[in-house]
Amino acid sequence: MNKTVTDQIFLRGISGSPGICIGKAYLVDREGVNLIKRYPVSPDMVPNEIDRFKNAVDKAKKDHAKAIDSLGDDLSENLNILETHMVLFKDKMLYGKTIDTITNDQVNAEWALRRVSRRISRMFNQINDPYLRARGNDIIQVSDKIMHYLVGEADLRISEINKRVIIVAHDLSPADTSQIQLEHIKGFVTDRGGKDSHTSIVAKSLKIPSVLGLGNATANINNDDILIVDGSAGIIIINPDEDTLFKYEDKRARFAAFRADIERESHLPAITADGVPINLLANIELVEEVVSAKDNKAAGIGLFRTEFLCLDLNRFPTEDQMLQKYRELVELMHPAPVTIRTLDINGDKFNPYIDPVEEANPALGLRAVRFCLVNESIFIAQIKAILRAAAFGNINLLIPMISCVEEIIGVKSCIERAVIELESEDRIFNKDIPLGIMIEVPSAVMMAQELAGHVDFFSIGTNDLIQYSMAIDRRNRRVAHLYQALNPAVLKMIRLVVDAATENNIELFMCGEMAGDAINIPVLLGLGLTNLSMNAGAIPVIKKMVRSVDVSKAQKDVQTILGFQTVQEIVDYIQKEYRDLLPYRDNEE
Ligand code: PEP
Ligand code: MG
Repeated sequence: MNKTVTDQIFLRGISGSPGICIGKAYLVDREGVNLIKRYPVSPDMVPNEIDRFKNAVDKAKKDHAKAIDSLGDDLSENLNILETHMVLFKDKMLYGKTIDTITNDQVNAEWALRRVSRRISRMFNQINDPYLRARGNDIIQVSDKIMHYLVGEADLRISEINKRVIIVAHDLSPADTSQIQLEHIKGFVTDRGGKDSHTSIVAKSLKIPSVLGLGNATANINNDDILIVDGSAGIIIINPDEDTLFKYEDKRARFAAFRADIERESHLPAITADGVPINLLANIELVEEVVSAKDNKAAGIGLFRTEFLCLDLNRFPTEDQMLQKYRELVELMHPAPVTIRTLDINGDKFNPYIDPVEEANPALGLRAVRFCLVNESIFIAQIKAILRAAAFGNINLLIPMISCVEEIIGVKSCIERAVIELESEDRIFNKDIPLGIMIEVPSAVMMAQELAGHVDFFSIGTNDLIQYSMAIDRRNRRVAHLYQALNPAVLKMIRLVVDAATENNIELFMCGEMAGDAINIPVLLGLGLTNLSMNAGAIPVIKKMVRSVDVSKAQKDVQTILGFQTVQEIVDYIQKEYRDLLPYRDNEE
């Protein structure tokens, strides 16, 4: 089963977040738990496999008995639980079913045990009675102990991994990624995932190198293989030889030096070479990221993705829980502005604990404001929390994925209802805060002139605008080559939005990843954008670019660029005009 790899293997994927790391692989499965591979067992070897399982059970049971014996008097209330576990080692549901699975499916013991324990866990999770649900957990704990003797590991969630490893997964959800403990995880690679997927956005904010969309990383990598992850070039190398290791050690040092260099200048003001001030703001998913926003000298929070709190909790937080988080955030950032975006769940941020309806086309489904408008009580609770937090700091309220005027009218009536409820509850709140919408669906671009009449600001979400206008699933690696911010169609749409905002005299922001990639900066400044929100880690690099660009030249460049028909012509032009300013792009493999 364990293959011996003698030659280094190069795999190319998509850059999830830049940087280089070298370390040992740690495979996790879809649910963010260490990966158990399935392998067939020939009929004559089935009895051996069953013996292997029984031995593991006996060893785990002995360990458990020792634990019971050594229990001090003060912990004797745990005795009951431990004695229950003792019986569960030979429980029919776990023990009997695992042996049945090994026999009937002719598979390895660890895979059979994992399969059976997952089924039990799902079954018990559907039960409402907390006592019975806890019995389900007991069985899982016992199964973990047996697993330890089969593979040397229990079921570890990403948040519990305590060695410095590189995570290898078929897919990681944004919620799993946000569980990553920085001190333990050097980087990660996945089979699935595309550029600017939410998983890559979280990786960038954690500043750990990652490569996504590798296709077959989990099939090629075994636990403890040595990996090099070059997140900047979107490449990984499995079991590198000495020369390659040497070369990448050097590359890693150069990248670190580049980052340190940029960060040294991060205190300088964000003003273009010809004196135009630019606001560089941070996108965050968790309140804890305020530290990184401040370290990188963000002028405020341009996008707070509130759905991550739900994804982590596996449920909707209460109004008071949200208020507490939002208040903490605005107070920490005060007097700088904080743009709080209402829930953008579903799409690739689907979580069955929150909305159990799985959709065939989630990106085109009941996502973001669409979900909120049919789940008004959830939406109104969030709006109330935001208006209450606005009494303590400087908040902008942002609504995601507006695709027509009717939706913003619907949102406004929910805001009115939230205000009426707050008044009747005698709450302290502030309703006079700017209301904005994300422009991230092509229909909103086409209606930007009309929509501008209903709101105080726009924020262009290029991650989705590219996805929806180019018809590319953000997570699909097979169409990732078409996901290009500098596509002329995307630039023309941005120009329409800039014109609508300027003519209607409303503020305009951009909070998609496009704003955090230096090559796009001359075009964005030339198009007239002055408020750019991005991953906090990108701010120093973008600031360096902003300080070097001359807006009057950039405006002329945009005239030329908008005459081009292909992305390549646009990229070539920018690279020619701004060659000396563009930062480290080391794609030489
Ligand atoms: C966007 O779509 O550009 C955006 C900023 O929102 P999200 O990435 O959360 O969809
Ligand atoms: Mg979006």
